[in-house]
Amino acid sequence: MKFGGTSVENADAFRNVAAIVKSAVHSQPVIVVSAIAGFTNLLLKSVEKAIAGDTKGATRSLEPDLARHNAIAKDLLKAEAAAAFEQTVGVARAEIRQLHKIIAAHPVTSPPLQDEIVAFGEHLSSQLLAAVLREVGLAARYVDARRCIRTNEDYGNAAPQPGTNEATTAEVSPLLHAAKIPVLGGFIGSSDNRVTTTLGRGGSDYTAALVGAALDAREIQIWTDVSGVLTADPRVVSNAKTIPVLSYQEAAELAYFGAKVLHPKTIQPAIDKNIAVRVCNSREPKAASTLIVSESEATPQTIKAIAHKSGITTVQVTSARMLGAYGFLRALFDIFDRHRTAVDVVTTSEVSVSLSIDDTGALSQLIPDLEQLGTVDIEEGRTIISVVGEGLRNTPGIASRVFSEINDINVSMISVGASSVNLTFMVDEARAEEAIQRLHRVCFEEAGVSTSREEVVA
Ligand code: ADP
Ligand code: ASP
Ligand code: MG
Repeated sequence: MKFGGTSVENADAFRNVAAIVKSAVHSQPVIVVSAIAGFTNLLLKSVEKAIAGDTKGATRSLEPDLARHNAIAKDLLKAEAAAAFEQTVGVARAEIRQLHKIIAAHPVTSPPLQDEIVAFGEHLSSQLLAAVLREVGLAARYVDARRCIRTNEDYGNAAPQPGTNEATTAEVSPLLHAAKIPVLGGFIGSSDNRVTTTLGRGGSDYTAALVGAALDAREIQIWTDVSGVLTADPRVVSNAKTIPVLSYQEAAELAYFGAKVLHPKTIQPAIDKNIAVRVCNSREPKAASTLIVSESEATPQTIKAIAHKSGITTVQVTSARMLGAYGFLRALFDIFDRHRTAVDVVTTSEVSVSLSIDDTGALSQLIPDLEQLGTVDIEEGRTIISVVGEGLRNTPGIASRVFSEINDINVSMISVGASSVNLTFMVDEARAEEAIQRLHRVCFEEAGVSTSREEVVA
């Protein structure tokens, strides 16, 4: 059971979590928890301040959120447990201050130190949640997730290593056998050298999947602030509906293309062990949820959702040398490889290749290298829109319905994903919300749509 940042944002949220865990106690739950809402951002900003040399300001900037932890503890724990937790916060503050000082003195070493600092978000939330669960009579035990999730040293985006399953089982199984409830921080791990690492923003979902897979869990539950995976981002489409069942592949595509509710790497460990993933609302535990299962067990052959990802840059390389030549694409992708830049969508014609990237950190170094191959055009401020559903595999006419609905909006880089469960294209950021709302209307709100939440039909 993984609880995200907004599920532990204040004392009331912690109370809800305690009630949810209590009602699941007979299923031998293992708990994974994110930092309290907003704290990870604040920790990252504090690192920037330290790099700029403002050590005092860096540590001071964390005070409101450290106080928030203490306030929750005071509200929910008896005096002794609250005092013990306050001490934990005090030690964390002192350690972070030391790390800020080291960063200010040697900013060049900051990536591992940044992970070390950011990890305090999950250290504190997991210790606090364990204490809160004990307060309601549950036998909760804090487990340092760094002893379970073994990773490489790719700081800020570390990849789990094979030892993770054994390490997790060794730490967690004895507690389960002793009828305890293990509580781990999400998002964090450690390298072979015992240096703290993190799995990338939003990575607590991934931790939950890794832990679930290591323990052969019956289900991996992602508890968040909305009622499951919805037919679109609710911040764009206010009447988006819960999708009752998704296949692994559909869920993975939605996550890759921007549905923030699941970290994109969450699904793979579940596929590896064929474990169901359920996405539930921690604010309304009885509300609708989404079950994600293998395709064979699943799922209506329909369109399920529209995902989107903004802040995308497209890069087009045009060269007559491509015509009939071999080795061109390899040379092109070598350049992206060399600059460690991931490519999301690719479309090609005889003489040009268009690619989309969302990390433009290396763009100014990429361009001169790409210009060796051909003419380079860059377009910023694009949005990828992805229509996802098993129904795309074999329902004729979906593409024409999609594109005729938005025929006054300029669309580029159309591609049907290799998995054939997504239809992806690019629009200008300024028209994206309108495009998504119109597509949602035609796919989910008009003729043929069942009003039952059990069935969302295109
Ligand atoms: P948590 O802190 O629980 O990990 P996140 O903020 O990472 O929560 O993810 C939940 C948020 O994802 C929702 O509040 C919603 O704004 C956003 N979201 C984007 N697309 C979708 C979607 N298709 N379904 C549900 N939520 C979505
Ligand atoms: N706390 C981390 C983040 O904000 C991990 C997570 O919430 O999943 O990115
Ligand atoms: Mg999240």
